[in-house]
Amino acid sequence: MLRIERIDTYLVDLPTIRPHVLSMATMHRQTVTLVKIRCADGLTGIGEGTTIGGMSYGDESPESIKLAIDTYIAPILLASDPSRVAVTMAAVGRSVVGNHFAKAAVEMALLDAQGKRVGLPVSELLGGRQRDSLPVAWTLASGDTGRDIEEAEQMLARRRHNIFKLKIGKRAVEDDVAHVAAIKRALGDRASVRVDINQAWDETAAARGMALLEEAGVDLVEQPIARGNRPGMARLAARFIVPIMADEALRGPEDAFDIAARAAADVFAVKVAQSGGLQAAGRVGAIADAAGIGLYGGTMLEAAVGTAASAHLFATFPRLAWGTELFGPLLLTEEILAEPLTYGDFVLQVPDRPGLGIELDDARVEHFRRDRR
Ligand SMILES: [Mg+2]
Repeated sequence: MLRIERIDTYLVDLPTIRPHVLSMATMHRQTVTLVKIRCADGLTGIGEGTTIGGMSYGDESPESIKLAIDTYIAPILLASDPSRVAVTMAAVGRSVVGNHFAKAAVEMALLDAQGKRVGLPVSELLGGRQRDSLPVAWTLASGDTGRDIEEAEQMLARRRHNIFKLKIGKRAVEDDVAHVAAIKRALGDRASVRVDINQAWDETAAARGMALLEEAGVDLVEQPIARGNRPGMARLAARFIVPIMADEALRGPEDAFDIAARAAADVFAVKVAQSGGLQAAGRVGAIADAAGIGLYGGTMLEAAVGTAASAHLFATFPRLAWGTELFGPLLLTEEILAEPLTYGDFVLQVPDRPGLGIELDDARVEHFRRDRR
């Protein structure tokens, strides 16, 4: 039986290129929990657990991810065979309830090592890739209309993004919609404009907001109301033509099944960590596909490791009508990979080397480790 020799976890604090304004938090930096699993056959796997805005988005934080792995998951891993990833993760699941982000980070590292072991990219371990590149949306969230338009124009001119997601929900509905409409007017048909309310509206506000957003030419409305209000989401989905996307409401395959059964969303934002890992997120995608629900590859604003892992999974989806938002590394001032991920011509290239197909720049990572600063 193959053994794990060593598990390291550390927090890495990376500055963002600008403040990132969301309805529940304003981010000035991103904290990434990195996991390194070294196996007795000499192979090392890397994983990442990252949240949005500390604990303001979900109930895990970078610190809680580290604690869950160090204290509760590592002992299980040290007694398991890392070349049997599914059996190992099932053992983790029996002893650790919830903690999806921590589990996702560990599974990512195990799959990275396993891919290197068998000489295949993680996308092939997950069922086989159907595409080598993924469309990538950019989030406009500076909090200022003029600055957002300028940022969007730059992205179009550089051919980096032509899908823009606007973070709204902090101001009055009419003010938010005016902001969105001004951006859509400026960009016209050159770009797809979508909004994410991050649950900030109640159903009445959402009904008013969605009518106005539809009129403004918005293509997609993400999680307008509370994640738990599924009947409300179903009513909004039935009432408006503009599609409604579930994000926070989706915390794994069981949620996916229930939302699909209730017709409470037209599109799913599939997120690896939120789903509980790459394999669980794959099941979320399969449920959506079976139900005729559109797919969008979501992000927790992960740095390059989590982004690469997500890219491997999203590359396996037969249909990915809404593209992805795997721009996390581009929001950070610092590169943590020896060779950065490739963005250009509005897409991200899915790494094609074995495992996740990436390598950390250890010196950079060391420099930004919280315990070293
Ligand atoms: Mg969202």
